[in-house]
Parts: sequence; structure tokens; C-alpha cells
Amino acid sequence: ADIWSQKDRVVTEEEWLQKWEMGNIGFHKKQGHPLLQKYLDVLLNGRNGLRIFFPLCGKAVEMKWLADMGHSVVGVEVSEQALKEFFAEHNLPYCEEPVPEISGAKKLQSTSGNICLYCCSIYDLSSSIVGKFDGVWDRGALVAVNPCDRQRYASLMITLMEKNSSYLLVTVSYDPNKHKGPPFYVAESEIKSLFG
Ligand code: SAH
Repeated sequence: ADIWSQKDRVVTEEEWLQKWEMGNIGFHKKQGHPLLQKYLDVLLNGRNGLRIFFPLCGKAVEMKWLADMGHSVVGVEVSEQALKEFFAEHNLPYCEEPVPEISGAKKLQSTSGNICLYCCSIYDLSSSIVGKFDGVWDRGALVAVNPCDRQRYASLMITLMEKNSSYLLVTVSYDPNKHKGPPFYVAESEIKSLFG
């Protein structure tokens, strides 16, 4: 397989917003991801009350699962519609406020306080704005990032991780000559070089 066939593919922010508007969101899993259940112990590693990050979160129901277990969840997503659908579909009241450090960004926070979703590009975030995390659930995130931005994405994620954090990553394996993505194909060797 030619792993380079997708390297110049770009999906713009505008195109993502359009997918949400059109309801073209085949990536959304209503039932939640079985691999999170399977590897939950690896993520938590016996710890309670973790700060868990959901990059490119969409309206992932796993955010509700982890919040209900007593963890504090932070997500980032460019589509405000996605975030509003998340709160609405779980009947969660929330409040909205600007993020002083990021022009145009909003923060949507559950009234209970344990789910905080940033509406902006992930590349606008830094640890001085969102802090560091004990765990990351990366599903539909690295594989949704434009191939040309992978290095930047991985470097940023590393800066957002606490020393003893765990990172669960879901990728997809297929012949990149046959589908244009997203999800993009990320070879295991590339994951190793991105994250070390
Ligand atoms: N992780 C989610 C969504 C996967 S689809 C899930 O498992 O269901 C990828 C999501 O990333 C889309 O909702 C898209 O709107 C969002 N997105 C794309 N580029 C982004 C960026 N630069 N910053 C934040 N969100 C982004």
C-alpha cells in the first residue's frame, strides 16, 4: 500500500461544519465505543477523579460515561452545533462563556461543572489555557487531523499530558489507495515516530 497517497488531503474547518449541518456524521457512535469499555482500566490505571481530554470530541457519548464515573472531562471541537447537540441529547444544562485567551472561542460548561467543552480549533489550545490531563481518549481525532498537521497535533498533545498520563488511541487499518479519508490511514510506524 502506498502510505503517501493521502498526504496532501485537506479537510477544511468549513467542510467539517458543513458535515455537521448536513447531518453527515457517520463517525458518531450512539452506543459509545466498545474499545473504551475494553481498555478503561488501562486509561484509569486504578486512579479516581482524573482530568480526561477528548480532542476533536464531536458529541462523543463517552464524555458522559466518564463524567458519570466521577472524572472531569474537557473536550475541544470546532462545531458549536456538535457541542450543543451533546448537551441537549444528554439533557445536561450548561452555560456558555467566552475564552479570553482565544478570540472567537467559547467554552460550554455543564452546570454540574464536570464537562467543559471548548468551541475552537485544537491548535488554539495550550496547557496554560486548559491545563494538563491524566488521560486522553483519541478516537476519530488523530485519524481526522489533516496528514500535514499530524506532527503539530502530536506535539501539542504531548504538551497537554501530565507525567503519569495514559493515552488511548483508536486508528483504522485499510488500504489508503482505496479510500480518500477521513478517517485517514496512519501507519503504526508513524504513530511510533509521532509519540515516541
Ligand atoms: N471524536 C469524535 C468525533 C470524530 S470526527 C467521535 O469519536 O465521535 C472529527 C471531529 O473533529 C469533527 O466533529 C470535526 O468537526 C472536528 N474537528 C476537525 N478539525 C478540528 C480542529 N482543528 N479542532 C477541533 N475540532 C476539529
